[in-house]
Amino acid sequence: MAAVSPKVVRRMKGRLLREEKTIRVMIEMYCRDRHGSKGALCSRCRELCEYAEKRLRNCPYGAKKPTCAACPIHCYQGGMREEVRRVMRYAGPRMMFEHPLLAIGHFIDGLACVRPPRPGA
Ligand code: SF4
Ligand SMILES: [Zn+2]
Repeated sequence: MAAVSPKVVRRMKGRLLREEKTIRVMIEMYCRDRHGSKGALCSRCRELCEYAEKRLRNCPYGAKKPTCAACPIHCYQGGMREEVRRVMRYAGPRMMFEHPLLAIGHFIDGLACVRPPRPGA
């Protein structure tokens, strides 16, 4: 696999931070609207948020991480995977109205993303 330039690595670090923020914001929207939370996540959504953040930080692709939707691994465990899908289905279409910059960044990441091979394959 070709080496990634330091510039690209720096950009990807920024992208990972943005992805982390995006998933947190989506879970906050979902929790606010579906669970009536105000200001803080309910325990179920907090657990999901912490889980998603941990998956992102430990992603085996590191700086070359694809979007999770294009990932051949899907490291989320069964129940959490379903939960995060539910959140995405709900919050995804609403992101453009409440957080347009994050929504556009996520959209561009999706366009730029090529489905990668499994690490080590
Ligand atoms: S689903 Fe794939 S891209 Fe997303 S965090 Fe897990 S391994 Fe990384
Ligand atoms: Zn909640």
